[in-house]
Amino acid sequence: MVAIGELTQVRYEQAAPGIARIVLARPEKRNAQGTRMTYEIDAAMRAACEDDGIVVIILAADGDDFSAGHDLSLSESPAGAAGERVSLWGGDGGPGWEPMYRREREVYLEMCERWRNAPKPVIAAVQGNVISGGLTLMWVADLVVATADARFRDNTASDLGVPGVEFFAHPLELGVRRAKQFLFTGGWLSAQDALAAGMVNAVVPRAELAAHALALAQEVARTDPFTLKLVKASINAAQDAMGRREAMQAAFANHQVGHLQNMLVHGFPIDVSRLPENVRRRLEHARRAADA
Ligand code: ZN
Repeated sequence: MVAIGELTQVRYEQAAPGIARIVLARPEKRNAQGTRMTYEIDAAMRAACEDDGIVVIILAADGDDFSAGHDLSLSESPAGAAGERVSLWGGDGGPGWEPMYRREREVYLEMCERWRNAPKPVIAAVQGNVISGGLTLMWVADLVVATADARFRDNTASDLGVPGVEFFAHPLELGVRRAKQFLFTGGWLSAQDALAAGMVNAVVPRAELAAHALALAQEVARTDPFTLKLVKASINAAQDAMGRREAMQAAFANHQVGHLQNMLVHGFPIDVSRLPENVRRRLEHARRAADA
């Protein structure tokens, strides 16, 4: 398990009495999420949830952008240490698609599910670009504060040949028609449009983001901590009763079909033919190095 003192891509801070702040701290990579960052977020979430002195958790990010999505650079080992895992699936060394399936399920689906079900209120404070996998890091939060220059996009369908990110909350977050346009086109959604869709709670100037998120956290923290947990559990249960988890499982299966189609047609889990030439070359080079 990642120790809280050993975090390198995430910071864990006490923002104020009763308020923890988990900060994505990889701005040079626009906070791209790889395996290490995933387990570091998880360690920080665990620390905040196990500390009875913490009532509300803020999830924020250093730099210009909240998150550019999953780290596709292949620069780190895909497998987290076995002891850290949520899932008991195994199959790391298996043939065919199983190792990738296991990782996608663990790192991008079940981890998000666990964070979404964290008992304490989580407030995401987002700025700049929030792209694809970056959306899932925001969607696991209960409340979202965005800067006026924040913008949102899922380009997995339009650019990568897979039907949306693994934690498929698009129709829940945007409504059915907006979600379809969002995924069909891969277009940007502005902070104001996200506010209108109900995906974010407030839009504020960038300079006020941290203060606004903290003030909101402190306002929430005035409610009794145990009552807050019960409210969150009740609203999450209502969403689950509407079929959230089953719909996400179906979308995850479709996501895997998309990856397999790309493997058969392009030899990669994504449609590399749609990527810019330099990105495609880098991926092909990294894959050859990994195979050697
Ligand atoms: Zn995937």
